Amino acid sequence: MSWTDEKVDRLRELWGQGMSASEIADLLGEVTRNAVIGKAHRLGLSGRPSPIKKKPTRGATILALTERMCKWPVGDPKHPDFHFCGKTAHPGLPYCGEHAALAYQPSTKKRDDERKFIVA
Ligand SMILES: [Zn+2]
Repeated sequence: MSWTDEKVDRLRELWGQGMSASEIADLLGEVTRNAVIGKAHRLGLSGRPSPIKKKPTRGATILALTERMCKWPVGDPKHPDFHFCGKTAHPGLPYCGEHAALAYQPSTKKRDDERKFIVA
């Protein structure tokens, strides 16, 4: 099989998403895992961080969370990349400052609305 422009683009895209060479080979079809690795190296794509190395640096999993860590979920729970923010939480809150603002904004607004209603 030959590397058409279309296949090379797809390889770059999938590689960039952190897919393994064998997964990319399966998706592209007519190509072996070794051919994917070889092509990626020739394209200079080999420098991506491996998904395994990357994981511990990106937030926390539910198992690693402590009381003082932000429990804001990041990503799709069905996706393997799903994790929690894990930054230091505000005292008394389950979230860091940034995520507490996101989490509590709607309810604050609602309370204001209710108050207006009562006042009216
Ligand atoms: Zn957070």
